[in-house]
Amino acid sequence: NRFCESIPKIELHAHLNGCIRSSTFRQLLSSPTDQMRLDTLDKEFPMGDTHSRMANVFEKFSLLRSCVTNLDDIRRITHETLEDFISDNVIYAELRTRPRSFQNGAIAASSYVETILETMQEYEDKICSRLVLSIDRTQTLEQAMETLKLAEKYRTQIVGLDLSGDPNVKSFERLRPVFDLAKQINLSTTIHIGELPDEECLNENNLIIDYKPTRLGHFNFRTVDQEQRVLKEQIPLELCPTSNLLTMNLSDLSTHHFDLFYKNKHPLTICTDDSGLMDCRLSSEIFQIVQTFRLTKKELYEFMFQTSNLIFDKNMIELCQTKLKNFSEQSNL
Ligand code: IMP
Repeated sequence: NRFCESIPKIELHAHLNGCIRSSTFRQLLSSPTDQMRLDTLDKEFPMGDTHSRMANVFEKFSLLRSCVTNLDDIRRITHETLEDFISDNVIYAELRTRPRSFQNGAIAASSYVETILETMQEYEDKICSRLVLSIDRTQTLEQAMETLKLAEKYRTQIVGLDLSGDPNVKSFERLRPVFDLAKQINLSTTIHIGELPDEECLNENNLIIDYKPTRLGHFNFRTVDQEQRVLKEQIPLELCPTSNLLTMNLSDLSTHHFDLFYKNKHPLTICTDDSGLMDCRLSSEIFQIVQTFRLTKKELYEFMFQTSNLIFDKNMIELCQTKLKNFSEQSNL
């Protein structure tokens, strides 16, 4: 585990508000009713099956959304998230978030984005962080278009567009025009795919693979044909062990799809998804993979090196690779 802690790491799938420290979450929940609801959700969580655990997590997201109410809150969450990644030796992080306004629109979504970008800038000498804007599956096409416009406006620090939110809501077809536009302006895209086992989810997988986003998130559930297409087209996958165990209802990683894709030398990255809500760190996510699939130190180093090619900000690849090479020399790998 110490090696997983010390190796320079790259985080490519982290939902900003999902990274909230649990202590901060409890502090921001001002009403005792909400605090009690969170306690109940925490207690009920281990008992559920895939769908009820997912519903549990999404109720937590909605509680979280209701208690983040101003720019100071989001500044604090960004600040603490970056501190936590730095202390885990993360050298490059792409944080994703759905832009939002506060106080019935008096504080615009652009201020939300600017606050996050300013905070990231403050940390630039300690961690290179970039923003990816999320479109929620429940949003309208107009709202999604607004998000794309924001991404264009802050193009140097915003490096991509994500599609996420409740996996029961299938919406890629409806929102596709925004993703087509993103491609036209060369904005990278990452799309959550195959999070749940139902048929609707599998149907949507085909549309998403046809679109060929820059990266795909999760891909827990898929048909053999879909798997072959992703392998053949080399679409990189963002895998999030703790989160995937939750949605796949597995007790350990031995049957996790990391194995299959890794053996096929597929472009992969290991990520945290929601480190605060899921109480995990990138080093521990990587450690779980290393332990389960018996990766050597050298293999882990090589794995991390290939991950650096998947980052959206291509200007930062060289920097990441230099840091990794320095680490390798110091560690006599
Ligand atoms: P935010 O966009 O910074 O507010 O981050 C939290 C949001 O990320 C949640 O409300 C969800 O919409 C989304 N999210 C976090 N984890 C997942 C996931 O595993 N699947 C889909 N959406 C997710």
